[in-house]
Amino acid sequence: MKNILKKNNPFQHTLKREVSFCGIGLHSGNPVSMTIKPAPADSGIRFMRADLGQAAMIPALMNRVVDTKLATTIAEDDAAVSTTEHLLAALFALGIDNALIELDAPEVPIMDGSAGPFVHVLKKVDRKRQKTYRKMLKITKEIVFQDGGKRISVAPYDGLKITCEIDFDHELIKHQTYSIELTPKKFLNEIASARTFGFMDEVEKLRENGLALGGSLENAIVVDNQLGVMNDGGLRFADEFVRHKVLDLIGDLALLGCPLIGHITASKSGHGQHLALMQEIAAHPECWEFVTLENSENGGAFERVVTTTKAAGNMIIPFLIPPSPATLSSSRGSFFAESSV
Ligand SMILES: [Zn+2]
Repeated sequence: MKNILKKNNPFQHTLKREVSFCGIGLHSGNPVSMTIKPAPADSGIRFMRADLGQAAMIPALMNRVVDTKLATTIAEDDAAVSTTEHLLAALFALGIDNALIELDAPEVPIMDGSAGPFVHVLKKVDRKRQKTYRKMLKITKEIVFQDGGKRISVAPYDGLKITCEIDFDHELIKHQTYSIELTPKKFLNEIASARTFGFMDEVEKLRENGLALGGSLENAIVVDNQLGVMNDGGLRFADEFVRHKVLDLIGDLALLGCPLIGHITASKSGHGQHLALMQEIAAHPECWEFVTLENSENGGAFERVVTTTKAAGNMIIPFLIPPSPATLSSSRGSFFAESSV
């Protein structure tokens, strides 16, 4: 088994070499070139808009989220990147902690609407172990966010487990649930290739508003109320819809900026609720602690060691949410709050 498919490793990782992708933006329909480069330990995942005059760096962190309506968009100053979730899910699930993603457009290429193309290439490139330990966020008490009929929670669990439930008033989808104990291999086999989906009448409305211009049967499942799934070849999994929800959730969670140890249960959630859960986590440091894993003396197995935890008090929040430049905090505050409901 390749190194990249192994379960939790105590060390931070980056890529062995840089890798490029070409595609189109889902909303603009314009071509996008993207290069993912290795990055130093503790630098996290960062995007860079190479097309903007001065190199504009956007850390992939929850407090950079400016929109969650159709996809997750993050921004720093005037530089924004949207549809981050499928790529971030691939990096997160494969255990890549540090990478610099250079783009020449405001959207991550949509590829086939899933994380499959990213995962297959990243797996081949493989990851490189770095010398610094990972700090993992371990949930010690349940945290719940409820938003009408939408609910998302995270509870203590030995590992990372994700359970998603969707309910659509459409015969093809209806009620679907999926639960996965996340490992790189399971992500690859069960989640990565599940595609995004939309309903024909919604797609038409989006187009009228200048959105989803790059959307096609090549990069989304399109469901027609009468005709059913419009794509040749139909679905990749009978429950591809809920699997894609799991994918989106993983990609949004990556914006915590560190691996998570806990069980997330999401019911009818979307990007907005995923962000809200992360905000709840940040607001409740008494419900979690940071841990690292270290090699045990008898070899092979790992032993969990608590490092800077609750004792660090208010140091925890700055780690999770590095301060935005002062100029942004006031103007972005309202937008940030709005998109979380
Ligand atoms: Zn998605």
